[in-house]
Amino acid sequence: MSLANKLAEERRARLAAERLLELKQAELSAANRKLGRHALALTRQIGETQAEVATVRHENERVKSDLTVAQDKIQIAERRLWHSIRTIQDGFAFFDGDGLMIGANTAYVAAFDGLEEIAPGVSYTRILQLLTDEGLVNTGDLKPADWRAMMSDRWQQPSPEPIVVRWWNDEYIKLIDHRGPGGDVVSLAMSITASVTYEQNLKAARARAESANRAKSAFLANMSHEIRTPMNGVVGMAELLLDTGLDEEQLLYASTIKSSGEALLVIINDVLDYSKIEADKLVLHPAEFDLERCVHEVVLLLQATARDKGLAILADYDLFLPTRFVGDPGRVRQVLTNLAGNAVKFTRAGHVLIRVTGVPDADKGSCEVHVAVEDTGIGIAADKIEHIFGEFNQADSAQSREFEGTGLGLAITRRLVELMGGRVWVESTPGKGSCFGFKVVLPSPDCGAVEPPALSAELGRVLVVAEQQATREIFTRQLGQLGMDVIAVASGPEALERIDASIGLIVAKHAMRGMDGLELAEAVRDAGWCDLPFLLVSSNPASAQDDPAYPLVQGLLPYPYSRANLFARLAEIGPGPVMRADPPDPLLTEAVPEAVPDTAPSGKRLMRVLAAEDNRTNQLVLAKMLKSCRIDLRFAANGKEAVELFTAWRPELVFMDISMPRMDGKAATREIRQIEACEGGHVPIVALTAHAMEGDGEAILAAGLDRFLTKPLRKALILEQIAIAAPSDAEPPFPGGPPEEAGAEVPGLEATGSG
Ligand code: ADP
Repeated sequence: MSLANKLAEERRARLAAERLLELKQAELSAANRKLGRHALALTRQIGETQAEVATVRHENERVKSDLTVAQDKIQIAERRLWHSIRTIQDGFAFFDGDGLMIGANTAYVAAFDGLEEIAPGVSYTRILQLLTDEGLVNTGDLKPADWRAMMSDRWQQPSPEPIVVRWWNDEYIKLIDHRGPGGDVVSLAMSITASVTYEQNLKAARARAESANRAKSAFLANMSHEIRTPMNGVVGMAELLLDTGLDEEQLLYASTIKSSGEALLVIINDVLDYSKIEADKLVLHPAEFDLERCVHEVVLLLQATARDKGLAILADYDLFLPTRFVGDPGRVRQVLTNLAGNAVKFTRAGHVLIRVTGVPDADKGSCEVHVAVEDTGIGIAADKIEHIFGEFNQADSAQSREFEGTGLGLAITRRLVELMGGRVWVESTPGKGSCFGFKVVLPSPDCGAVEPPALSAELGRVLVVAEQQATREIFTRQLGQLGMDVIAVASGPEALERIDASIGLIVAKHAMRGMDGLELAEAVRDAGWCDLPFLLVSSNPASAQDDPAYPLVQGLLPYPYSRANLFARLAEIGPGPVMRADPPDPLLTEAVPEAVPDTAPSGKRLMRVLAAEDNRTNQLVLAKMLKSCRIDLRFAANGKEAVELFTAWRPELVFMDISMPRMDGKAATREIRQIEACEGGHVPIVALTAHAMEGDGEAILAAGLDRFLTKPLRKALILEQIAIAAPSDAEPPFPGGPPEEAGAEVPGLEATGSG
C-alpha cells in the first residue's frame, strides 16, 4: 500500500476517533445534566419527608396528651359511678358472660350477711348455692335444689323476667337482671318489702270490709225476712177477718190493715231481695215454666192500673218461639213486673208493650231470649241512664213525688238478670219513651218445634180494627206471618168503609172509643154482612159475653191471648158451622166495678158525689162504705181529673185526697174555687188527709177546702158529710132515714175540722 493511501487511511481513522470522542463527550454532559436534576429532586423530597416526620411527631405528642386527659376523665367517671352505685339503697352487681361477678355494691354484698365468698370472681351459680345453703332465702313450697334450678334457668334467658324473692326475715327483694350484648349481666336487687306489706294490708282491709258488708246485708236480709213473716201473718189474718161478716167500720179497719201491710211487704221484699243479692245468698231455683204465660200474667197484673191511666198494655210474643223454658219462673216474673211496672208508672199516655223474641239453637237445646219492654212515657235523660241502675237512685228526685218508688227495682232487676247469665239494656228519649230489655239464654225442651195452625184457605183478607197503632202492627205482623193478607184500620166507622167482598175475617178489639168492637159487629150485620166471620179481642171477656150483641161474633179472643188460643180461634173460624169460644180463663176475668144508675126508682135524680183519690184500695174502701147510699159516686185518680170532672159534671160534694200524682188536692181545690169565682156556686170540698203533716189544717183551709177528715176513713163521718151536703131536689141519700152513726159521737176521734 502506498504512503498516500496509508496517510489517507490514518486521516480517516483519526477523524472517526475525533467524531466518537465528540459523541461520548455529548453523552457524558447529558448524563451529568440528568444526574444534577435527580440530585435536585432528591434534595426536595428529603426536605418534605423531614417536614412530615416533624408533623407526625407533633401529632403523636398531642394524642398522647389527649389520651392522658381521657384516661383521667374515665377514672373520674368510674369513681363517680361506683360512688353512686355504692350509695344507692338497692343491691347492684355486674357479671361477665360466664356468670362471674365483676363487682357489686355494698347493699348487694350486705344482703349475704357478710359471707366473704361474695366478692368479684364468684359465680352466679355459687351465689344461688350459698343463698340456699346458708338459709338466706325462703324458697316457699320449692325444694332448695328446685329453687336453684328455677333461678338458674331464669338467669340463662336472653332477657330474664323480674322475679320477687322472699328473704329469710320476710324482706321481699325484686330481682331485675339485664343481659347486655356481650353476655354481661347487670343485676339490680330492689327491696319492695314496704309495698308488699302495704298491698297485703290493703287486701286484708278489703276482705274485712267485704265481709262486714256481707254481714250487714245478711243482717238486713234476716231482719227483712223476720219482719216479712209476721207481716204476712198480719196481712193474711186481716184478709180472713174481712170474710167474717164485719160491720162497715170494722171492715174498714181490717182492709186498711191489709192494704197497709201489703204496701209494707212490697218495700220489705225489695229490701230483702237486694240484701240477699248483696250477701251472695240469692239462689235461682230453675224449673220448667211457660214464658208466654208468665208475660200474660204480668200484663194481667198491670192491666187495671194501665186501664185506669188510659194506657194500653200489650204483649207481643213471637209466634214461632218456644214457650216452655227452664229457668227461675218467680225471678223471671219479678224482672218482667219491675220493668213493665215502671213502664206503666212512668207513662201518662199511649202504650206499654212487652215484646218477646228469640233465637233458638236446636243443637244446644237452648234459646237466646230477648225481652223488650217499650213505653211511650216520660223517658230518661242520657246522663241518667247509668245512674238509675244504682241502689235507691231515681232519674229525677223532683219527680219522685209524682211517681212513688224506692229506687231499688232496677238495681234488683239488673242483678237478677246477671245471676241468670244475661244482660239488661235500655234506650230512651226524654219526652218520647223508653225501651228496657234483657237477654238471657234459657234451655228449652222444644226448640223450634212450633206448629202453625191449619187455617181455612177460604178466609180471604183479614180486616184488623184496633185503636192503638201498636196493636194494629202486632196483629198485622202476626197474621201476616201466618200467611194472611191483612189490612188494618183504627176505628169501627173506618172498618165499615173498608168492608167489601174481599174481606174474609174481621179481627176487632172490644174496647174502642166511639164505636166499640161489639157495636161494630152489630153495624157489620146491619150493613148486610151477616156471615162475615168476626173475631172479638177483649181484655174484659166476661163483660163482652154479657153484652146482648155477643152472639153476633164467631170467636172471642181474651187479651192477652196465648199463641195456642189465637191458633185455635183462627182454626175454628171459617165457612161451616160457627163455633163459639171456650169459656174464658178465670185468670182473665176481672171484677168490674158495679155500675151506679144515675136515677133512683122514685124518678128523682141522685146526689152527685166526686171522690178524688189516687189509691185504688182507698177507692174501693170508699165505694164499699157508700154502697148503701143512693148517690151517684164517681172517682178521679188525681187532682187534674178531679178538676175536669168538676167542670163537666158539677158534683154536689167533693171528697179530696191531698197527696195525689200530677196535681195534688190543694192545687185542684184552688182551681175549682177559681172556676166558681167566674161561674158562681160553692161545692163543699172535704179533704181526706193521710197523716198529720199533710193534715196541717191551716194550709188546707187556706187552699179553699171546707173541712178535713184524717185517714183511715170512718164511715160515720163520711156519711155525716153526705147528709150535710145532700141537695133537696135529689133522692135522699139514705133510704131508711139518716143513718144512726151519722152525727153520733165516736170515741177517740180527732177527725173533723171546719172552716
Ligand atoms: P223506682 O221505680 O222504685 O223509683 P227503679 O229502680 O225501678 O225505682 O227505677 C229507678 C228510676 O229509673 C225511676 O225512679 C225512674 O226515674 C227511672 N225509670 C225506670 N223505668 C223508667 C221508665 N220506663 N221510664 C222513665 N223512667 C224510668
